Amino acid sequence: MMAAARKRKSEALGDETEDEERGDRRRKIRKTNKYIGAHVGIQGGIWKAVESSAALGAGAFALFLGSQRSWKRPVLDPAAADRFQEKCSELGFDPAHILPHGSYLMNCGSPKDDVSEKSRVLLVDELSRCSRLGLRLYNFHPGSSLGAITTQQCLDKIAAAINHAHQQTPAVVTVLENMSGQGSTVGGRFCELRRIIDRVRDRSRVGVCLDTCHAFAAGKLGCNLDRHEDIGKGNIGLSAFRDVVNEPRLDGVPLILETPGRPGFQDAEQIELLYSLCEKNKE
Ligand SMILES: [Zn+2]
Repeated sequence: MMAAARKRKSEALGDETEDEERGDRRRKIRKTNKYIGAHVGIQGGIWKAVESSAALGAGAFALFLGSQRSWKRPVLDPAAADRFQEKCSELGFDPAHILPHGSYLMNCGSPKDDVSEKSRVLLVDELSRCSRLGLRLYNFHPGSSLGAITTQQCLDKIAAAINHAHQQTPAVVTVLENMSGQGSTVGGRFCELRRIIDRVRDRSRVGVCLDTCHAFAAGKLGCNLDRHEDIGKGNIGLSAFRDVVNEPRLDGVPLILETPGRPGFQDAEQIELLYSLCEKNKE
């Protein structure tokens, strides 16, 4: 009895601490208006992504919508989708701050007919999953010409795939990620993203995700190599990230880590570091 009572008491205390931590996290995020998070896993159920993000002290997150190995996926379990949405509201994650990442298999600009067709089907499937999960944004790599067609032809194919997917699915915004310009991938130059956007019929459903590593590699550094480094440890430097987290135009925009992490400096520590750079947190 005593043990049980003690256990109940400690459980209650545990809950209180958790509630307090959760409250602190929400206050900090609201104060800065910056929604910082990481790419988190979905092993064990898609709702696990929400739980892990809360444990990281994050205000945002990215996730894959299914396996990265298969073109065809099992139908999204309605109970799992409901649980995901419940977890989001329980743990305080607004869908505006959740940025699912498209499958790496997909290449909507592929010169190979079978691959571009499978990619179009997968794009529709992923957007439908987003709407079932109550999500509004969907980020993906535009594609690659594989050196077999011109960049313009590749960009036009991508725009056509987006228009097709928009017709088949409701409301979700397709977000184009800038690339590092490695190999024959397209989207390393902003004018390439512009060409896609110009051809998208519903402009209210197209956006851009700025990958700082890709932009740096494609532009200023010009090495075109896609090499992500931990915050403040790479060539970009910490002061650039201080500017990012204090930039008012990035208020309310999900800011997602795609950093390798090292012992003692994993996602949670890097998120904490970024929040500590926010001037509003020091007021
Ligand atoms: Zn990406």
